[in-house]
Amino acid sequence: MTTLRLVLGDQLNASHPWFRQPDPGCVVVMMEIRSETDYVVHHAQKVLAIFAAMRGFAEALRAAGHRVHYLRIGDPDNQQDFAANLVQLAARYKATRFERMEADEWRVERLLDEASARLDLPATVVDSAHFLRDRDDLAQAFSERVPRLEYFYRDMRRRHGLLLDDNHKPVGGRWNYDADNRARWPGEPPAPAWPWVPTDVSALWEEIAAAGVRTFGEPNAHALPWPLSRAQAREGLAVFVNQVLPHFGRFQDAMSTQEPLLFHSGLSFALNIKMLHPREVIDAAIQAFEAGEVDIAACEGFVRQILGWREYVRGVYWGRMPHYAQTNALDAHRPLPRWYWTGETQMACLRHAIGQSLQLAYAHHIQRLMITGNFALLAGCDPDTVDAWYLGIYIDAFEWVEMPNTRGMSQYADGGLVASKPYAASASYIKRQSDYCKGCRYAATRRHGADACPFNSLYWDFMLRHEADFAGNPRMTMPYRAWQRMDEAERKATLKHARHLLERLDDL
Ligand code: FAD
Ligand code: SF4
Repeated sequence: MTTLRLVLGDQLNASHPWFRQPDPGCVVVMMEIRSETDYVVHHAQKVLAIFAAMRGFAEALRAAGHRVHYLRIGDPDNQQDFAANLVQLAARYKATRFERMEADEWRVERLLDEASARLDLPATVVDSAHFLRDRDDLAQAFSERVPRLEYFYRDMRRRHGLLLDDNHKPVGGRWNYDADNRARWPGEPPAPAWPWVPTDVSALWEEIAAAGVRTFGEPNAHALPWPLSRAQAREGLAVFVNQVLPHFGRFQDAMSTQEPLLFHSGLSFALNIKMLHPREVIDAAIQAFEAGEVDIAACEGFVRQILGWREYVRGVYWGRMPHYAQTNALDAHRPLPRWYWTGETQMACLRHAIGQSLQLAYAHHIQRLMITGNFALLAGCDPDTVDAWYLGIYIDAFEWVEMPNTRGMSQYADGGLVASKPYAASASYIKRQSDYCKGCRYAATRRHGADACPFNSLYWDFMLRHEADFAGNPRMTMPYRAWQRMDEAERKATLKHARHLLERLDDL
């Protein structure tokens, strides 16, 4: 009697009940397969980091006495998809049962259902023991109505009893300290160093290349800068709590050419492949607050990202798929400009945000939302192509979290389910929050003319194009009033310039 237990590359959860003690009747199956490397073109570091972490996890399981069957990308008997490999392994081990954890992605869940049907064995799907809300419960709630993040988050604080006083009121008197988190970073305090010692994974890179996997971005295989084991992930968490968290909230919206992480944690990859549990990350932040090492604004701001946003987008995804993947409320159909894949644009902000993403497979939230996402929104790029870019380029990109952030929050393609207004901004926002404009060939203050910052005219063109969509939104009245106050000739020249730019986006 042998059970095959499938563990996916984003299910490296050492504290899952399956791994409490070795079971000689179970074979843990892990596989590096082309169907997963090829469903979108991924950044090289994403493929490297996931495979390296999977291999390390498999080794740790073996060392702890578990039976593991691991298929490498170049193994001759690797059939390169879930179903074919599972059928082959079921025959080899004379399996009598198949067990798997809930997948996080709709696409993978469907593939595993099909694989299970082909196996034709008694099968069980278990919880991945990672998230802070049950998937079906969340999906049910969000399929009926998508709540505003703030109410969802308060409910999660209550459910988990986090940052509440003895009267069940929020510690510090407020639920949310977001309004305090808007500072530009003046270069002080210095941003802490990158938290991880790089790992040489060049042998793995050779295997991936030999298998013919197509990737983009800088592999950095001699010095991969990401955590590849739970121990490294825990070290990164400790560095974050001690050195970064005290400044987390205040500079959350800041951007700098000098520092890729600034005061962000860089923990999303470790969290999303489940090397870290969200509760241990939240608890570490709250312990630092209770020990007086960080203030409530920093602690609450960080807890909100994980207890609030991370669980919330999962609710949107599972409550609204598969329809969500087709949403295109703003009827946007342009392809992404070519320079999204090279960083070769004269716009300093985009050159930096894309260049950093190609170098590191990472950009922080405001770079994703207000630089690359903002531009694609203003230019009317097709949410399918925007989704594919985000899903490929970031080390932490898995569809359940990528799609509601991209299609919903950033591109407003869901018509306002996630964002109460579109995150559209002109150059004045970027200038205020970053040092990008200083070194730019374009002038942040100009709306038209050869040197005018493209964000300005494209912003107004976008607003006018969608006036009917946004007119009823009280959060959008200010910009329309500002437009009405603008001189007629200025308005005409601005829109004319936008049309000129939209015809040559690849050349900007
Ligand atoms: P920190 O700023 O240190 O935040 C701490 C943690 O909070 C993160 O690690 C993450 O787990 C969580 N978090 C913060 N914001 C969000 C959010 N909006 N949604 C979900 N979790 C959040 N996040 C991903 O994990 N994968 C993605 O593919 C992804 N795609 C995005 C695409 C766009 C267009 C945008 C605007 C955001 C996207 N995000 C995504 C959310 C967010 O930008 C990243 O989680 C964050 O930048 C990761 O860096 P960090 O770990 O340094 O985050
Ligand atoms: Fe970006 Fe415009 Fe500033 Fe240049 S001037 S960095 S294009 S916002």
